[in-house]
Amino acid sequence: MTVMAEGEVEITEGCRLPVLLRNGDGWHWAEILGKKEVNDKPLFYVHYDDFNKRLDEWVPEERLDVSKLEYPKKDQKTPKKEVGKVGTPSSRPGSPESMVNGSSMSHPKKASGASRKRKLEDDDERGSRSGTPSIPHVGSLQDLNLDGTALPSAPRQTGSMVAHHDDAITRMKNVELIELGTYRIRPWYFSPYPQELTSVPIVYICEYCLKYVKSNKCLERHLAKCLLRHPPGNEIYRKANISIFEIDGRKNKNYAQNLCLLAKLFLDHKTLYYDTDPFLFYVCCEMDNKGYHIVGYFSKEKESSEDYNVACILTLPPYQKKGFGKLLIEFSYELSKVEAKTGSPEKPLSDLGLLSYRSYWSQTITEILLGLKPEEGNEKPLITINEISELTSIKKEDVISTLQHLNLINYYKGQYIIVLSRELLKSHYKAMSKRKIRIDPKCLHWQPKDWSKRGKW
Ligand code: ZN
Repeated sequence: MTVMAEGEVEITEGCRLPVLLRNGDGWHWAEILGKKEVNDKPLFYVHYDDFNKRLDEWVPEERLDVSKLEYPKKDQKTPKKEVGKVGTPSSRPGSPESMVNGSSMSHPKKASGASRKRKLEDDDERGSRSGTPSIPHVGSLQDLNLDGTALPSAPRQTGSMVAHHDDAITRMKNVELIELGTYRIRPWYFSPYPQELTSVPIVYICEYCLKYVKSNKCLERHLAKCLLRHPPGNEIYRKANISIFEIDGRKNKNYAQNLCLLAKLFLDHKTLYYDTDPFLFYVCCEMDNKGYHIVGYFSKEKESSEDYNVACILTLPPYQKKGFGKLLIEFSYELSKVEAKTGSPEKPLSDLGLLSYRSYWSQTITEILLGLKPEEGNEKPLITINEISELTSIKKEDVISTLQHLNLINYYKGQYIIVLSRELLKSHYKAMSKRKIRIDPKCLHWQPKDWSKRGKW
């Protein structure tokens, strides 16, 4: 029972009000997503309107402007499925407890007869179309195994669990801090690590096998017996101190799942498929005398019906803004070149992902255009969209959108022409001079496998 003084207001989840920004940079409207007490003082978890979720944070009451408090509109915050099923309808809508035990998440094993039947039919279909299995949906949180997370003893590998994509629990960061190698990193988003790890101040992660433990002591014990000093799988690229490993999500399931959990801390929409079998993981490392330190990675479907050449892509925060994101993107297209295919990243891209891709596409296409020589008899060089696509392995649609984005296409005397302005060239050369690390195709030792010819991955 909350005892409230006269005139005092109760701030609950779903309420909206202005919050004083951390740097004192004025007030910004935000939604209350959670509430907790630390040393008898209430803290509120807020999401700022129009700001990326990674800026969500716990704030003390002093930073809330309660005079402008707006209560949640009825029926809006309560997930429809929950009504009447989880405790009393008035129990805090969307609170972690109610969501974890709620009915919006169903365990495959507990699936109703009808859905189980559907699953079997799917499997049959899978068999009959052997080689063209349906790929699980990767682009959202639908495959989060929340029950498995809340109950660490529950099996984690039973495939996908259905979770409401905007479950209140997944909207809040749940890991305070991680230690990975020599870095301590503050996570950006929710990741379904076992619940017991969400109450410790630091989650310790072995930087080689990515196993997670709750204390430094546990990590020391683990490191004493962990034999890995690099990711599992094959080292398919090495130049200077940069290496890239290819990991099969079926053969190295543990590593792949640990990688997905780690990545989810920094990716909002994507990842988390406990079923890692249909994916390959390309992990980029920086090597020193201690071992190979993970910098970032991307995952890729073994078979993509939609020409995706990247599912998830991430550069870990300590390595961001150093050119590794673009290096990973460049590498993904290098693989597509070897496969003699064009490819595109899976959508939706994160805000940072889209920026990296836009910039990679612009630079790569501009590079191609600058390298063109006029053919004999022509005053100006000629190239088609298809040719740009073939040369770069960038999917046609992305080539077109990049040319449009750069505003390069002009219609002149009855034909389309590309005009490279002086400003564009200036900024291009400046950007290219910053790209210190590049993929050297000579250092890639890789043969694509034809997964469609294998009965099972
Ligand atoms: Zn380890």
